[in-house]
Amino acid sequence: MSAPRLEIRLDRIEHNARTLVDRLRTRGITVTGVTKASLGSAEVAHAMLRGGVTGIGDSRIENIERLRAAGVPGPMTLIRSPMLSQVARVVAHAETSCNTEPQVIDALAAASLARGRTHGVVLMVELGDLREGILPADLVEIARRTLGHPGVELRGIGANLACQSGVAPSDRNMARLSDLVAAVESSCGIEIAVVSGGNSANLDWAFATADAGRIDNLRLGESILLGCEPLRRTPIDGLHLDAVTFVAEVIESKVKPLRPWGERHENAFGARTVERGRVGGESTGSSRARRAIVALGEQDTDPAGLSPPAGMVVVGASSDHLVLDVGPLDLAVGHEVRFGLDYRALLRAMTSPFVGRSLLGGPTPG
Ligand SMILES: *Cc1c(COP(=O)(O)O)cnc(C)c1O
Repeated sequence: MSAPRLEIRLDRIEHNARTLVDRLRTRGITVTGVTKASLGSAEVAHAMLRGGVTGIGDSRIENIERLRAAGVPGPMTLIRSPMLSQVARVVAHAETSCNTEPQVIDALAAASLARGRTHGVVLMVELGDLREGILPADLVEIARRTLGHPGVELRGIGANLACQSGVAPSDRNMARLSDLVAAVESSCGIEIAVVSGGNSANLDWAFATADAGRIDNLRLGESILLGCEPLRRTPIDGLHLDAVTFVAEVIESKVKPLRPWGERHENAFGARTVERGRVGGESTGSSRARRAIVALGEQDTDPAGLSPPAGMVVVGASSDHLVLDVGPLDLAVGHEVRFGLDYRALLRAMTSPFVGRSLLGGPTPG
């Protein structure tokens, strides 16, 4: 099989999705499955849908178009504010988009009217993480303006925390979101159907809170794919941490001295390295170790986000080589090494043209 490659266990993704969907259902919260870290993979989207997510979200219209072309049933939500230059594509392929700019909402309304459609708008509110969001003081006015447009329908209010500044979802900021929803409803005389409280970083809050208030939806990607919550990167009880793994092939395996020799300056990426493997002296017998090079590097993933198997230590990586101290293990050329990934490594690997994919544990056809 080709290497490097991601091995994606669809049955484990389905299990993770189902476990989260079931737990959140008891809190009155539905799940939108977020596929952006899979480059809009139809198989991943199908696995999430089999697990019970009520819709698919992605930050890129290209991914949503890919999902549509592959026949993934909707509803699809574009979870990043549409580019003005892409509104026609957005209304053509996504039922709903998350929005913060009145000018973009105007353009979406015009584009969907031209197609004889109604496009759903979720207004995103700033709750302190300082990424996307309408300031709370401006929310009612922008909601009114949205309601005044034929062509768009105000379908929900949402927020996103943690991604930019690491601000944690809490009873306090989620109650603020519920209050803002109530304020829009009473000022505009409408009911807001969807209150999308956030992403995987909301899970600790959602499982612990006594009252989720008006929050009835979360947009989950990382927790479904990797089985952990992103604030402290702690594993979530009952979820698979190895639904996705990264497999790479050994291209050199030699016993070498532990320390470099010669005058030293910056390496390929501008860093002055300190040896991370076991420390030793010069090139005497006792200060040597077996080092293996696997054919993977910065062009394939984020090497710093890979966890090697037990007994191996990542010494360093450059564009195309990752050096492992493999201790007493006898790792021969041609052997495969399997790594766990963090979110950044996953995202980079999924979007690298050099990394293949092997989809396992899917439903048997027919
Ligand atoms: C990426 C993203 C999500 C999903 O985040 P995870 O941490 O992967 O669950 C949800 N909402 C928005 C707006 C996003 O950009």
